[in-house]
Amino acid sequence: MKNILFFLTFFLISGFILNVHTACGQDRDWQPEDTEFYEPVPPIVRATPAFLSPPEDAIVLFDGTNFSNWESVRDGDIEWTIQDGAMTVKPGSGNIITNEHFGSVQLYLEWKTPSEIKGEGQGRGNSGVFLQRRYEVQVLDSYENETYVNGMAGSIYKQFVPYVNAAMPPGEWQTYNIIFEAPEFSDDGNVLKPGAITVFWNGVLIHHRAELEGPTRYIGQPEYSAHSEDGIMLQDHGDLVSFRNIWLRKLDESPVRSD
Ligand code: MG
Repeated sequence: MKNILFFLTFFLISGFILNVHTACGQDRDWQPEDTEFYEPVPPIVRATPAFLSPPEDAIVLFDGTNFSNWESVRDGDIEWTIQDGAMTVKPGSGNIITNEHFGSVQLYLEWKTPSEIKGEGQGRGNSGVFLQRRYEVQVLDSYENETYVNGMAGSIYKQFVPYVNAAMPPGEWQTYNIIFEAPEFSDDGNVLKPGAITVFWNGVLIHHRAELEGPTRYIGQPEYSAHSEDGIMLQDHGDLVSFRNIWLRKLDESPVRSD
C-alpha cells in the first residue's frame, strides 16, 4: 500500500512538473530568430528541370489562362496577373487559394523568381506553396542568396532543410513535384498520423517523407490542431514570383497507398 501511494505521488508530481515545463515552453516569449538555423548548409546541386505535362488523371489547377480554380484569401477578386501562360503575384494583394479542398496529393508546379535581383535573404523572390493552407514549402531565390537554411527555397518552412540546394538562377523556371500525405486526426482532435512531405526540386529529391511537426509558424514552435481538408495556397510575400503549369493528383484513393 505504501509503495502504491509512493508511486502514485511520484507520478502525480512528475506529471505536474512535466505539464508546467511544457506550458512554460509554449508560453515562452518566442522571437522569429529562435527557430532559424544556419547550419548545415545544403550542398549545391546543379540540375536542369524537366517540365511535366499533366497526366490523364490530374486535376489541372492552372493552365496559364485563368483563375477559375482560385480565389483570393481576402474579399474580392484575385489581383494577381496572368501573362504568357504564367501567373504573377501582385504584391500586397494577398495570397490565393484553390476553391477545392484536398487531402493527400501529388502536386506539381513550376515557379520562377524575378530576373531582376532585388533584396536579399528572405526579401528576395519570396513566395510559398501551402498544402492544406497551412504547411509551407518555401519558394525563394536561393541562388547565391544566403538566409537561414530552414527558410531557403525547398525548405519546409522552419521545420526541414532541403537535402541539397538545387536552385536555378533567378528568372529561370524551376519545378516542384510534391507528395503530400495529409495528417489524420481522431474525432476528439488527437493526431492519429502526422502529415508528411516528399519533394523533388528540379527533379532532385530534397525531402523524403519529412514528418510535419504541425502547421508552419513564423514565430514559435509548430503545434497541431485538428482540421479538415483545405485548399492549396500560394503566397504573396511582396515579391514578383510567377507560377505556371499547376496540377495535382489525389492520393487518398490511390490503390498503391500504403499505411
Ligand atoms: Mg514564403
